[in-house]
Amino acid sequence: MGKLSISDINLKGKKTLVRVDFNIPLDKSLNITDDRRIVESLPTIKKIIADGGRVILCSHLGRPKGKPVLEMSLKPAAKRLSELLGKEVKMAPDCVGDAVTKMVNSLKDGDVLLLENLRYHDEEEKNDSAFAKQLAAMAEVYVNDAFGSAHRAHASTEGVTKYISTCAAGFLMEKELKYLGAALTNPKRPFVAVLGGAKISGKIDVIQNLFGKFDVFLIGGGMSFTFFKAMGKNIGISLLEEDKIDLAKEIMQEAKTKGLKMLLPVDCVVADELSENARTMIVSIDKIPSNMKGLDIGPETIKLFQAELEKAKTVVWNGPMGVFEVEKFARGTFAIADILADITAMGAITIVGGGDSAAAVSQRGLDNKLTHISTGGGASLEFLEGKVLPGVVALTELKGKSLKCV
Ligand code: AMP
Repeated sequence: MGKLSISDINLKGKKTLVRVDFNIPLDKSLNITDDRRIVESLPTIKKIIADGGRVILCSHLGRPKGKPVLEMSLKPAAKRLSELLGKEVKMAPDCVGDAVTKMVNSLKDGDVLLLENLRYHDEEEKNDSAFAKQLAAMAEVYVNDAFGSAHRAHASTEGVTKYISTCAAGFLMEKELKYLGAALTNPKRPFVAVLGGAKISGKIDVIQNLFGKFDVFLIGGGMSFTFFKAMGKNIGISLLEEDKIDLAKEIMQEAKTKGLKMLLPVDCVVADELSENARTMIVSIDKIPSNMKGLDIGPETIKLFQAELEKAKTVVWNGPMGVFEVEKFARGTFAIADILADITAMGAITIVGGGDSAAAVSQRGLDNKLTHISTGGGASLEFLEGKVLPGVVALTELKGKSLKCV
């Protein structure tokens, strides 16, 4: 199924409702600590301005649970966007209602208006049709550039599309679908998945659904200890999902039957506590002391994973190799980021599936050294799992178009 893209349309004079992802991190003084999500929406916003369209931006921020919460206002985003565009960005007092409609109707060609947090209304997450209609009534064209929210059928991502006839993917959305779609449909091989993070639970579907697609699985992070437990090893006080031990056994059995390469760490950094002052040691996976926990992969594992990654032609990475938020346990995660940058330079396609691994790549200053860093952690996982994203399916279909949604 091909989807209409913003590049297929001219927005001259058109009131264009754009769903962006301005769910930005703010500190206690409401300063933006990372403006990447705003920066990434610029190509779409600039295209509408250049066409002479009228930009009406909408987004959620945090979880205000259906009522206005001052700390979750999008005002800081309006200010930052205005600096980035070098022009005024008007801020609406709400996302629907008479005052907002008035502001929308007074927009001139090339003007930009940001609506207040959609989740100040619980109708947004409920995909309430009256609320979706109110949003839709403001505009003639709808553009979805919020890939990170496309796996949820909310009023601003799905409901609204029922009441506007032209619904297009923004540039950021298009980029996400292009890279993730290409990785899924026609990967250059060997195709390697690097999976980490705290829990098996969030990624189990990905592992199973991708069994047929990937050639090699490299598993690190907290989730590896449930696999070790399933193998009968002593994991000390490392993270364990008791109720997933049987599942871990099943996965290992399935990998074996299908002849897939699934590599787990051979050594790890253990500590007596999770702190910068912790006492740490590097031990083989078979020698984890009973009063310590594994918090990062060790140097032998890095070498083992590096050898696989250097042979890879396509890599998808999701989840850190250790508790990289604490410097002492960040080495494994940063090493993977470095290796991915190196193999990208050698021609491999490297995709980072959002969230913590994307933050690690950023901290390492490697944002531009990998092929694609997805903006949507959950959405990119669901896409890779082969699930249909409601926010993408809902966009206008275009025959003969190569922009794939599944
Ligand atoms: P997830 O949301 O499942 O991708 O998990 C990300 C979190 O996993 C990060 O905050 C890491 O600190 C954490 N993590 C990674 N490795 C470990 C580990 N060995 N033990 C505990 N937590 C870990």
